[in-house]
Amino acid sequence: MSDTEIGRPRPVIAGLPAYRPGKGAKQAEAEHGITDAIKLASNENPAEPLPAIVEAITAAASGANRYADHRATAVRQALADRLGVTVEQVTVGNGTVGLLQQLWLSYVDPGDEVVYPWRSFEVYPVYTQEMAGTAVTVPLRDDLGFDLDGVVDAVTERTKLVVLATPNNPTGVACTTAELRTALERIPRSVIVCIDEAYREFLDPSFGDPVSELLPDFPNALVTRTMSKAHGLAGVRVGYAVGHPDVIATIDKTLVPFAVNALAQAAALAAIEHDDEIRRSVDGLLAERSRVESALRAAGWSLPAHQANFVWLALGDRTDEIALGLERSGVVVRPFSGEGIRVTIGTPAENDRFVAALAEVSS
Ligand SMILES: *Cc1c(COP(=O)(O)O)cnc(C)c1O
Repeated sequence: MSDTEIGRPRPVIAGLPAYRPGKGAKQAEAEHGITDAIKLASNENPAEPLPAIVEAITAAASGANRYADHRATAVRQALADRLGVTVEQVTVGNGTVGLLQQLWLSYVDPGDEVVYPWRSFEVYPVYTQEMAGTAVTVPLRDDLGFDLDGVVDAVTERTKLVVLATPNNPTGVACTTAELRTALERIPRSVIVCIDEAYREFLDPSFGDPVSELLPDFPNALVTRTMSKAHGLAGVRVGYAVGHPDVIATIDKTLVPFAVNALAQAAALAAIEHDDEIRRSVDGLLAERSRVESALRAAGWSLPAHQANFVWLALGDRTDEIALGLERSGVVVRPFSGEGIRVTIGTPAENDRFVAALAEVSS
């Protein structure tokens, strides 16, 4: 054994790059010597949480000496009531990313295949590698939608998991429940199909609801949602999953004890109670998205069929240059080198700044 080596990490972990979160406004200000930077890089809601949610969090803080309810029974019950499912069909996690990690931990053995369209949410390849699984990716269509036939064709006997983010991150393009049904009908029940609906609240209702339309017919389908985006609780960490009780029970086994903390549970309950006000906030963001899209189209950009709280600009080779230019003018966006930038819908003033800065740096 070598004397110089400090521990011996699993090779799949040693080979992982460190996680890089979206750059913050403060960091951009320091790097470029600017002030007044804005962050449109992580798809957060620009509005602070509702006062009732802040109050619930504050009230819960005085009980912080006690462990929270590990199973978050009240939150799961409240979600079940809202969704019209039983409490056994719902679980909560430390954000959707926490739940997704539990999903991979529960179903993916070394060498097992995980199928997902690409480009999509960045944790899917990371979790697959952590489990020493094999990622099988299916390219997006030209309109940036999912090639669901391609996804179905990619499923083999070694496939354990199929993951479909709809609306997709970072493109914003969504699948209808009719399209998902056609795919589910051709995927064996021994394969879990995770429908990651982190942006559900922004989706046009005509796309349908997988919870009411698909879960009753497909016990291998699992829907994940979050309070990080529409509900404005990204910093609190609450995600939830809805599916067959057996799948939920399996995932629950891998929940880190007390992972959904007392403040998060209080916030989630208050958010569920005030979902009509959250709806208004979402409607405001959707109106802003249309305004931004119109401005971008007027400037000659062609855009995919966005269904979330962000826009996607396919900039190809100009991605890094334009992202850096935007950042220097104080608008921090999320670049995907060689492909494009994802820009979160912020406040009206923030969106105006983005549109103006883009015109300047891309001319
Ligand atoms: C933001 C996001 C999530 C997760 O968010 P959490 O904050 O962990 O709940 C999950 N899936 C997609 C596609 C996302 O964009």
